[in-house]
Amino acid sequence: MTSEGTRKRLVERLRAKGIGDEVVLSAIAGTPRHLFVDEALSSRAYEDSALPIGRGQTISQPYVVAMMTQALLNGRRLEKVLEVGTGSGYQAAVLSPLVDKVFTVERIGELVRIARKRFHRLGLKNVYTRHSDGTLGWPSQAPFDGILVTAGGRIPDALTEQLAVGARLVAPVSAGRVQELTCITRTESGFEEENLGAVTFVPLLEGLE
Ligand code: SAH
Repeated sequence: MTSEGTRKRLVERLRAKGIGDEVVLSAIAGTPRHLFVDEALSSRAYEDSALPIGRGQTISQPYVVAMMTQALLNGRRLEKVLEVGTGSGYQAAVLSPLVDKVFTVERIGELVRIARKRFHRLGLKNVYTRHSDGTLGWPSQAPFDGILVTAGGRIPDALTEQLAVGARLVAPVSAGRVQELTCITRTESGFEEENLGAVTFVPLLEGLE
């Protein structure tokens, strides 16, 4: 259930759903998603669905992880990427081979500790984790070549301010009862916005737990 073959089938499903970036698909193929969920759920790890990770949070659906990663990279290799909402650590692990450095922040201390153990076990040496409120970004590491927000709400100004010129921010933005996956690009003169479709994420909350 957790074999390489099962992972390949997931990749074929993502390809059929329209994910075309081979670099992203190979990162998904190389990331053992079953190690990012509770053992009791590991047989379901390669289904294309979100799964609970405790504390009312979820590991995102692989299709959404692939779509967001593809939109963030836009065919390039990025140097510094910030992820807001480490959760299980899966999205950060998928980014790890695709960028030079991943900075990921999570507001729930227990999830940070578990994710750190997973990064260590997998030998992911370019993933830096911090227990902090991601609505503030990670100012000492800014500017970023890309920012990925994996919890839904309003996009905090602190995050757009920490984007380098030419960099993209991908985030689920609340629009009434649904969220719109939004891609914001910082230009020389301001920001450009593109809508990538409806998604469902847990809420972006302020403060620490
Ligand atoms: N990227 C994750 C999905 C996580 S779900 C994965 O691959 O598993 C969203 C996560 O965002 C939750 O763990 C939640 O606690 C966290 N979160 C919500 N608001 C946050 C904030 N302000 N700062 C940091 N993390 C936040």
